[in-house]
Amino acid sequence: MNPYRIASGQIVRLNRWNADQSDGFKGGQEAALRELQRLSLHLWPLQELLYAGQRHKVLVVLQGMDAAGKDGTIRRVFEGVNPQGVRVARFRKPSEEESSHDFLWRAHAVMPASGELVIFNRSYYEDVLVVRVHGLLPKKIWQGRYRRINEFERILIEEGTTILKFCLMIDRDEQAKRLQERLSDPTKQWKVDAADLLERKRWPSYMRAYSEMLRKTSTPRAPWYLIPSNRRWLRDVLVSRVIVETLQGLRMRYPALPARKRSLRVT
Ligand code: AMP
Ligand code: MG
Repeated sequence: MNPYRIASGQIVRLNRWNADQSDGFKGGQEAALRELQRLSLHLWPLQELLYAGQRHKVLVVLQGMDAAGKDGTIRRVFEGVNPQGVRVARFRKPSEEESSHDFLWRAHAVMPASGELVIFNRSYYEDVLVVRVHGLLPKKIWQGRYRRINEFERILIEEGTTILKFCLMIDRDEQAKRLQERLSDPTKQWKVDAADLLERKRWPSYMRAYSEMLRKTSTPRAPWYLIPSNRRWLRDVLVSRVIVETLQGLRMRYPALPARKRSLRVT
């Protein structure tokens, strides 16, 4: 069993959780980079198979605080995959139209189709995170959403979607360091906005919201993986490993030549 996988109902105390740990990978940074390359060599043909088969649908959810590494994970773990068949959907503050629907509507619209792998950069989980922390809706509304999310995911799974959820966890000091780096790097300043600096003040509330999310929405078929993410190289390799192992577990094969095609000849 993967040690980063959260069991259903598991209590995780994120305010005391060590995001700096690196014992999950023996060999340190250099070995991890090699391992990531090795995993990529597995990922590429698996994604080709997924696309060729047009049967399975794969959803990868990435959640995490600002600067936790969602963008970096997408860039590094999926480097070199065929863009045909892979898509990223990001979740910002809902538009007026989105807000006028139920909170799952905008997510459902961008779910993977057959043969697709879709990465959610943030997700419908924001609706039990930022919405809760900022009190955007009354408690009795967001409280019911854990169950509704589980039911939504159950429907998707029964309709052929494989769901993998990664919670990228850094600690508050690491976030300060990264935001500071962004502010002082002209190529990264665009990533920071004033709101990120205010969000930091709500760190303890966010940790409570994340803890409850993990406990209530990690299910046997749509588990959360809580990824220690202070070290980028460890984060990448842990995420990549789960994705590769899960795709391998689908035991995909190239579609057999159907009878109607067997007589085809190139003339
Ligand atoms: P970024 O990922 O840096 O582009 O930021 C997107 C912002 O949109 C984050 O601050 C999210 O918390 C916010 N956001 C995403 N979904 C929602 C939502 N359902 N309600 C309110 N804010 C949201
Ligand atoms: Mg941001």
